[in-house]
Amino acid sequence: MSELVLLIEDDSSIRRFVSASLSDQGFKTLEAVTGKTGLEYLVSRKPSLVLLDLGLPDGNGIEILKRIREWSRVPVIIISARGQEGDKVAGLDAGADDYLSKPFGAAELLARIRVSLRRFKTDGSDFPVFKTGDLKVDLSKHHVWIGKKEIHLSPIQYKILAVLVRQAGRVVTRERILEEAWGQDSGAGIDSVRIYMHQLRKKIEKTPLRPQYLKTELGVGYRMITDEDRI
Ligand code: CA
Repeated sequence: MSELVLLIEDDSSIRRFVSASLSDQGFKTLEAVTGKTGLEYLVSRKPSLVLLDLGLPDGNGIEILKRIREWSRVPVIIISARGQEGDKVAGLDAGADDYLSKPFGAAELLARIRVSLRRFKTDGSDFPVFKTGDLKVDLSKHHVWIGKKEIHLSPIQYKILAVLVRQAGRVVTRERILEEAWGQDSGAGIDSVRIYMHQLRKKIEKTPLRPQYLKTELGVGYRMITDEDRI
């Protein structure tokens, strides 16, 4: 049975593009032009995933997302215009699983959808050993390798890597990293995240300035690139 994706988007050219890309890959798309119709479809048609535009004719997508999260855990991927970093962070804080910046391609769209669907089904807990490219992380033993070489990380560096691995393929906000690695009220700030990220890249990336594992999402946070993202 093909998975149903609910697309809440008022731009008809994006709706056409998304529907065509998804149907090529065996997904069915249900299109809603307004947030109100989208919420109705979510209840009546029970889609597996929601793609949600932020600028809708009847209001801000963030408000729609908050309504969805009052009762549903369905994966939600936000579609936002380039440069609206504040909106992306607000969306992730409000419970979105990920976001796509316009314009996006079919491959990126499909990769994001697959990651979110898979994570929703497995909850991440079934995979103690994570692999991407030459990087291997054993979350149960706290071991990190690049190829056959074991990499030694400080406790904070490991915590940062671990949160990105557990969310692999999805963006993790700097605030979330700060909380996971340092704990609440630690006094550490966004600059600390940047410094440790730099250290971490020097240890695991072949070319830290052109990272293949730890991608920067400008103004938002970081994303661990999975093998699927590289296809
Ligand atoms: Ca719009």
